Amino acid sequence: MEGLYFDKQEIEHIIISVIAISLGFAIVFAGINGLLSSPKEFLVFMVLSLVTVGSGFILHEMAHKLVAIYYGASARFIMWTKGLLLMLITSVFGVLFAAPGAVYIYSNKITKAENGIISIVGPLTNLLLVGFFIALSKVFPVVFHLSFIGEPLNVWAFGAKINLILALFNMIPAFPLDGSKVFAWNKMVWIGTILILLGLGAVLISPFIIVSWGMLLVIALIFSKLAFGGNQR
Ligand SMILES: [Zn+2]
Repeated sequence: MEGLYFDKQEIEHIIISVIAISLGFAIVFAGINGLLSSPKEFLVFMVLSLVTVGSGFILHEMAHKLVAIYYGASARFIMWTKGLLLMLITSVFGVLFAAPGAVYIYSNKITKAENGIISIVGPLTNLLLVGFFIALSKVFPVVFHLSFIGEPLNVWAFGAKINLILALFNMIPAFPLDGSKVFAWNKMVWIGTILILLGLGAVLISPFIIVSWGMLLVIALIFSKLAFGGNQR
């Protein structure tokens, strides 16, 4: 095991990506109108977004890095400048194309099983955060009233929903998403995880999440086939 190590450039990439995903997310929810009409509230929402979305994103990535290093690989987070810019542009139109970067793993001796485990720990970290935020919402509820969000915002319940969506999205079995590597490793583990996530989604968000996720799955599979063809893995 090489140990956990970050150089200056990786730390810069992490900080920029976390700020960008939180900003993109805040723009999707507040809209440009929200940003211009109440900049102070936007700033508050940006901080809430950092605490709920930014943390969910980076802890997910760091889980990949930690387990990859555990298996003897070197692993570092690399920001995608184009993905990051695309994310900020689409957020203005109300769509979060959340692709600011990812952990790259370098090794020539990672097995399919190890790769599956390295991949699943990301979504499982988001699932842990779902539990953590639900617990926080019970013991230490925080509610904000923001003009660009119609109803009072229960911050921790919101964080739980967002992390559940992050887990569900990443578990889609389309390359290069985590789900494709989990599916290739062990189909039962993939199905079990998806059933838990969709069940939680039906309760915490809406039963319609199952339909939305199914539609997203089809789109992602088509996109993956077009972009990566048959030469994945
Ligand atoms: Zn991941």
